[in-house]
Amino acid sequence: GRHGNIYPIEGLSPYQNNWTIKARVTQKSDIKTWSNARGEGKLFNVTLMDDSGEIRGTGFNLVVDDLYPKLEEGKVYYISKARVNLAKKKFSNVNNDYELSFERNTEIEECHEVTNVPTIKYNFVPLNMLEDLNKDAICDVIGVVKEAGPLAEITTKMAKQIPKRELTLVDRSGFSVRLTLWGKQAEQYNIPEPSPIIAFKGVKVGDFGGMNLLWKSIMKLTGSTMQVNPEIDECFALRGWYDNDGSVQTFKAFSNQGGASSAYGFKREEIRSLDEVKQAGYGEPDKPENFSARATIMHIKADNISYPACPTPNCNKKVIEMGDSWRCEKCNQNFDAPEHRYIMSMAVADYSGQAWLQGFNDVGTTIFGMTANQLLEIRDRDQAEYNVIMHKANSNTYNFSCRAKQDTYNVVCTR
Ligand SMILES: [Zn+2]
Repeated sequence: GRHGNIYPIEGLSPYQNNWTIKARVTQKSDIKTWSNARGEGKLFNVTLMDDSGEIRGTGFNLVVDDLYPKLEEGKVYYISKARVNLAKKKFSNVNNDYELSFERNTEIEECHEVTNVPTIKYNFVPLNMLEDLNKDAICDVIGVVKEAGPLAEITTKMAKQIPKRELTLVDRSGFSVRLTLWGKQAEQYNIPEPSPIIAFKGVKVGDFGGMNLLWKSIMKLTGSTMQVNPEIDECFALRGWYDNDGSVQTFKAFSNQGGASSAYGFKREEIRSLDEVKQAGYGEPDKPENFSARATIMHIKADNISYPACPTPNCNKKVIEMGDSWRCEKCNQNFDAPEHRYIMSMAVADYSGQAWLQGFNDVGTTIFGMTANQLLEIRDRDQAEYNVIMHKANSNTYNFSCRAKQDTYNVVCTR
């Protein structure tokens, strides 16, 4: 037929000019403008994909007016009569030695017979797992848009206005996450249905900061792609869940704008790196400070993890062994056996550094999953098993709520 001479993308070279490719647009940029001493202009680019590979295509100036509105992310096109050039790899992460330059006579026609053209491949991260990714990590997410904010603008340091729009995504993990669209995608977001499902490829885990606030959030990169209601299993599953249960569920959010740092508790949006805490001089005399940290236990001082305490509720004083009984000076009473309570020193680390934390009874209970009495019973019965338990307690990552005073950091920790 008309498109009889279909070439695989990997077969394109500057030495062939009678070809047509059948490819899917997996990414489409905004229109970028420039102006310098030699004049001004504009351009856009797309990433095209077929079974054999991918290639980038770029259009300049008048070609932008002509072709930009014709190409849509996710759709498949027949493309012919473009120039094949050596790729300028500095500007692209597409894996091809060549790239296409769209010309005035380039022909583009949508193809509705889309078999054999690969779709975007996703590796979705459930929203509740985002907290385990580092800032700036690139990942794929899919979620129901529970809320779409109004179009807003930010002014960059270079006094440039950038449109932005915030979406709230939810998924079956019960978490909600804010995702920011930038540029054209923010302006053009116009989905009439109430709760569309959007799949994002290549979004960046970011934190939005004013001052010391770190909001774990995800930020859309230019170069990432967004597909509305994609025809993939994950989307159908989400749709079913949302329409049945999800729409009436309440969600946990990573970011929480309310509440100052008055309460002593873990606040994800106020996570500080250990180095930041040290640099800020927290805990210097008369400067007690609360902070939240996410860190991994490197070492627990195993020789001294608990003390014998008074069994009277809320007393917790250390008791003294007197023959075959234990005495609490405060309660002025003797007991047959003490209630052991944890007091632990542990070295923890995050990406920025290491710190020593001291944790009391609830910390030890969280870390070992048993009371200090139970742990000591194991130690006295089976030293090998005790060693295994101590060893296993290392390398686990926790959210720590810390209070720094003098030179100790007292903590509460949760998974
Ligand atoms: Zn007591």
